[in-house]
Amino acid sequence: MKRREFLKKAGVGAAAAVAATTVAAPAVLAKKSYRWKMVTTWPPKLPVLQTGCVRLAKRIDELSDGRLKIQVFAGGELVPPMGIFDAVSAGTVECGSGAAYYWAGKTAAAQWFSAVPFGLNAQGMAAWFHGGDGLKLWEEVYAPFNLIPRPGGSTGVQMGGWFNKKINSIDDYKGLKMRIPGLGGKVIAKAGGTVVLTPGGEIFTNLERGVIDATEWVGPLHDLRMGFYQAAKYYYYPGWHEPGTYLEYFFNKKAYTSLPKDLQHIIDAAVMENELWCLAQFDSRNGAALQELITKHHVQLIKFPDAVLNALRKLADEVVAGEAAKDAMATKVNNSFQKFKKVIGTWGTVSERAYYDIIAQKYSLKG
Ligand code: CA
Repeated sequence: MKRREFLKKAGVGAAAAVAATTVAAPAVLAKKSYRWKMVTTWPPKLPVLQTGCVRLAKRIDELSDGRLKIQVFAGGELVPPMGIFDAVSAGTVECGSGAAYYWAGKTAAAQWFSAVPFGLNAQGMAAWFHGGDGLKLWEEVYAPFNLIPRPGGSTGVQMGGWFNKKINSIDDYKGLKMRIPGLGGKVIAKAGGTVVLTPGGEIFTNLERGVIDATEWVGPLHDLRMGFYQAAKYYYYPGWHEPGTYLEYFFNKKAYTSLPKDLQHIIDAAVMENELWCLAQFDSRNGAALQELITKHHVQLIKFPDAVLNALRKLADEVVAGEAAKDAMATKVNNSFQKFKKVIGTWGTVSERAYYDIIAQKYSLKG
């Protein structure tokens, strides 16, 4: 039977068949669009950290041709900075950005995905996430909270901090009042220091008034912006406590999985692009900021003595082992991290380190 005859017999006119086709077509072409919110732990306009979130939202908008628009809210604008984990977990908002060590109180294992004293640097963290089982473990750790995590990029090695007293031996930490959060703070406490947790906006005043003797923050770019050089004499390096701090993005599981597959892929691809952008910003802009601190503000740059670093490392090993013993998941994540660190560290001594030793002769601050 020919098609026309069939249609006639079935009582369907050709015009009706064409109309049906015309009606069906736009339904296929017009894809659903989404409006999301992202909440962060960062102050508004904080370079790289907050501006990176805004950049990511813009890229997802562009790549999805406007089908997924994310409105970004800095810490406190919609949700208090430390409330974002719960807000995204509950599905009040679809996604968030912070650093995993903020959530140590919810799950100890989270800390390994941001910074471990004397742990992996930025390159090592990226290798663990994307080449090892770091990201898989992170997903496992966040799964009970209905969250899907993604690496948000690294700050690179941070600076050791701003001090008004010289650190010549490990004993100089005794009685030292320092603003230093996370595992690094636990190490300082073990060394006899007093850890003072101060909100970002109050650090400068506390340092200037002697409420604290020392503080760490991020690196030259962000430290210059905070004006710490006006309140402290010595700028110590390296940031042994945050050797490659990773930032994070996380998504409410239901919101993420209810997206069409292509939008999920766009999110993942844009986040990974942003991860690279983030470290590039820190690496390129920290160098210029350090030059400004030295030449314009005459900051005294001092390297921690080797004996101090070795003593801190011993204390850090104890702190990390203690955290790892807190629960089964923390033990599992630490085991993976330490195993990976050993393998990549061995390779690093004959690749990155051997190369840096050579170029350091030319770029040394003393040279
Ligand atoms: Ca820091």
